[in-house]
Amino acid sequence: MRGVAILGSTGSIGLSTLDVLARHPEHYRVVALSANTDVAQLLEQCRRYRPQLAAMADPDSAAALSAALRRDGLDTEVMSGATGLEAVATHPDASDLMAAIVGAAGVLPTLAAVRLGRRVLLANKEALVVSGALFMAAARRNGAQILPIDSEHNAVFQCLPGDFSRGLDAVGVDRILLTASGGPFRQRPLAELRHVTPDQACAHPNWSMGRKISVDSATMMNKGLEVIEARWLFDARPEQISVVVHPQSVIHSLVQYVDGSVLAQLGNPDMRTPIAHALAWPERQASGVAALDLFGVARLDFEPPDLQRFPCLRLAFDAVAAGGTAPAVLNAANEVAVARFLDGGLPFTGIAAVVEQTLAGFDHGAADSLDELLAADAAARRHAEHHATAMVT
Ligand code: NAD
Ligand code: MG
Repeated sequence: MRGVAILGSTGSIGLSTLDVLARHPEHYRVVALSANTDVAQLLEQCRRYRPQLAAMADPDSAAALSAALRRDGLDTEVMSGATGLEAVATHPDASDLMAAIVGAAGVLPTLAAVRLGRRVLLANKEALVVSGALFMAAARRNGAQILPIDSEHNAVFQCLPGDFSRGLDAVGVDRILLTASGGPFRQRPLAELRHVTPDQACAHPNWSMGRKISVDSATMMNKGLEVIEARWLFDARPEQISVVVHPQSVIHSLVQYVDGSVLAQLGNPDMRTPIAHALAWPERQASGVAALDLFGVARLDFEPPDLQRFPCLRLAFDAVAAGGTAPAVLNAANEVAVARFLDGGLPFTGIAAVVEQTLAGFDHGAADSLDELLAADAAARRHAEHHATAMVT
């Protein structure tokens, strides 16, 4: 019986995780859950899964949850704020943490679990984009196993040999090929992109996900963040990572070896597969996902990414090459720009413009500490807000 804690249990990944856990009640116990502000959903999850601890980032939401739990006669402890998130991440009865907060808000609580040597199922790619070098060093130092949940990285993990941490060169890997669907605007006339709405951007052709990552998929910033994520997870040189547009989202990524072999992982686009894989690793368990019907799929298409259509992907490649604080600045500017787009003010094409202007305003020095990275994140948010405001008015 493994105790599992979930950061971001009310989100898309959180819900898929609970779905998989509920299929194997003899193997898993849900010990701690957390959310930002969704009291109704977290209350429902407490009723069903009876965790020992529930935390809400927002203090007023935590108070409302606490009152509702008492009315129900449930004794789940409730905490709030950064302390609450960290208490969930480091709960003494949890051997595994599902890190599924969206954005840089996931960095500190996820790192807290890494420092305790917990097994971390990592969906929160932004944590690696912001603090990848420190994060992976902390994992090595503390013996924390990091299992990728992002479907591409989970696919790569499945296609690599078990001892890949010896180094990609040592195990004969030539390249990592990350697949990308191209999102909802792969073929939309460029002139129309300025006017697309948040709902159009969030209507992903293959995946159902939270709104921030859905917009990131539409700009392909998501793939850019994933290049940086892969760089750290697999200790790959940035030039060893390629992006392959594959509109069907059936091949989740590939690994090319020096002997010409290319290994791929395929499956229906449903996050319960990587979640079930990571939870059971190194074994396998049912996920609830239907078997892949190759005859139904019938064909697989591939094309190179169009960096003119998707400037965010180019900016991410530039940021990973620049190193230091550049990926943290890229991520922070993107979080601000996506939020401003979703609120209705900033045009879709303004997202890349805000990120580019913000990146240009910083010299990206080396970052030796978490404090420096978090300071770069905070400064980049201020700059990005300023650039976004200038674009809206
Ligand atoms: P989501 O928006 O559906 O859910 C986010 C969760 O985090 C919610 O439970 C929310 O309450 C919580 N949260 C948000 N802001 C918070 C804050 N400031 N403090 C504390 N909690 C906060 O997002 P999602 O689609 O589930 O994505 C979660 C993470 O997983 C993201 O990093 C995303 O890039 C990654 N991911 C998601 C998918 C997917 O299919 N949804 C696939 C690959 C990777
Ligand atoms: Mg992905």
